[in-house]
Amino acid sequence: MSVEIMNTAATAEAGLADNRGQSHDTLLTFPHTINGKPVAGSAFFEVINPSTAQAFARCPDATQENLQQAVEAARGACYSWATLSWEERRRHLLGLAAAIRDHREELARLITSENGKPIARARDEVERSASQMERLVTLQVEDVVLRDDAQGRITMRHRPLGVVGAITPWNMPLVLCVPKIAHALYTGNTVIVKPSPYTPMSALRLGEIACDLFPAGVLNMLAGGNDLGRWLTEHSGIDKISFTGSVATGKRVMASASATLKRVTLELGGNDAAIVLDDVDVDAVAPKLYAAAFGNSGQICMAIKRLFVQRSIYPSLCEAMARIAKNTIVGDGFDPTVQLGPVQNAAQYRIVLDMLDDARKQGAQFLAGGHALNGPGYFIAPTIVTNVAEGMRLVDEEPFGPVLPILPFDNVDDAIVRANNTRYGLTGSVWTKDLKRGEALANRLEAGTTWVNQHVGLDACIPFGGAKESGIGCEYGVDGLKAYMQATAINVPVH
Ligand code: NAD
Repeated sequence: MSVEIMNTAATAEAGLADNRGQSHDTLLTFPHTINGKPVAGSAFFEVINPSTAQAFARCPDATQENLQQAVEAARGACYSWATLSWEERRRHLLGLAAAIRDHREELARLITSENGKPIARARDEVERSASQMERLVTLQVEDVVLRDDAQGRITMRHRPLGVVGAITPWNMPLVLCVPKIAHALYTGNTVIVKPSPYTPMSALRLGEIACDLFPAGVLNMLAGGNDLGRWLTEHSGIDKISFTGSVATGKRVMASASATLKRVTLELGGNDAAIVLDDVDVDAVAPKLYAAAFGNSGQICMAIKRLFVQRSIYPSLCEAMARIAKNTIVGDGFDPTVQLGPVQNAAQYRIVLDMLDDARKQGAQFLAGGHALNGPGYFIAPTIVTNVAEGMRLVDEEPFGPVLPILPFDNVDDAIVRANNTRYGLTGSVWTKDLKRGEALANRLEAGTTWVNQHVGLDACIPFGGAKESGIGCEYGVDGLKAYMQATAINVPVH
């Protein structure tokens, strides 16, 4: 397996990651963190920088013995961590947020090296990791008295589950990892985190940074491939899996977690629709729709992936979107002028190009893009596609790349039916000047989150989760915290 790692400090100073000609010995590497200590790998895989298609790091590949050590450490630390108060655990997590900010530049450069996104967006990701954690720990799960009468008092309490296994994808390496740590530890569990093998370096470094901030065994970081993910889900010493990734893998996680009846939270893919009514100001909404579809090169679970536009404004909105796409600067994320980076890995790059070929063969029209850009990285031109319809892969599947199909509609009821005609149900939005009508329509979208006149965004105090095959359960908000806890109804008689 191959994954790109960050370059030397000297190259980072120079601005651009240029890993060509780098020997194996000079590749960056970090250890796992197990039981509060760095643990060097015995086997490694390379991490590829998607802007150069060259290896920039060597990632340790955890063995089953490493996992066993981490499980024993996490179980050993469980009891005393669970006895801390919310306030004590909050203080630890605020310390982690501060440490993340102290390492902002280093973590941002690791993210751009492994994921490809523009460095300014990587800095945002580091900041959001810290700020979301700070916001999450303003919440608390309170005891609730369900009955207090002549028969007795029944109180609903929540206790930690034990050890959480957290498995993350490659599109947002840090901001999908840190909140899982925050949910797990704040609710009194200990945690073993497994980042994506495509983007493990920022998480491994986070493990090192966090080492001294928690008692040994509370936070363990293990890197590895898909097998490590499976071992985590099967392990009888792990009580809950919090998984973010694709629908296909989510189903595997649920199946293997069933053997031990582990709790699972699944945050999965989406094919999210935005519906634009003909009363909008086209020039005002086009940049907002573009940002919500193409941010992170379209590699955001909740990005707009199908845009339904009312017929009378269809030509002008398509044209406005194409204009923005053609003016977008795509390239190496270390170049400060770049607005969109590459697709994160070669396999995903192939999937997106195959979907474009499939649509082209069926008569799709490309108003912008539709092709790869010169390499060596995995660059695809921001693509606006028309003359597309349901039944094409580009419309029915989650492209997860810088590609947006735009579909016209005449009747808004039909648009709602078409938006809902998918096995996904992550998010959706309605765009109109009439907020009341917008809310009524957003209420008919089958999704975990729906918006009016906005799309993409997360507040750590508001639960986020998918409908249908986009997930099970939620994270964030008090409901998200409860998903990391066991509810117990305590029944005490009066006498
Ligand atoms: P993926 O499912 O391929 O991999 C995700 C993680 O699962 C990786 O760490 C991988 O090593 C691990 N894994 C693979 N096989 C496993 C198994 N059998 N058991 C346990 N773990 C296993 O997903 P990806 O390609 O890394 O990420 C892209 C997907 O993630 C997209 O579908 C995107 O929409 C989704 N996503 C969802 C959210 C959300 O909050 N709903 C957020 C970001 C990304």
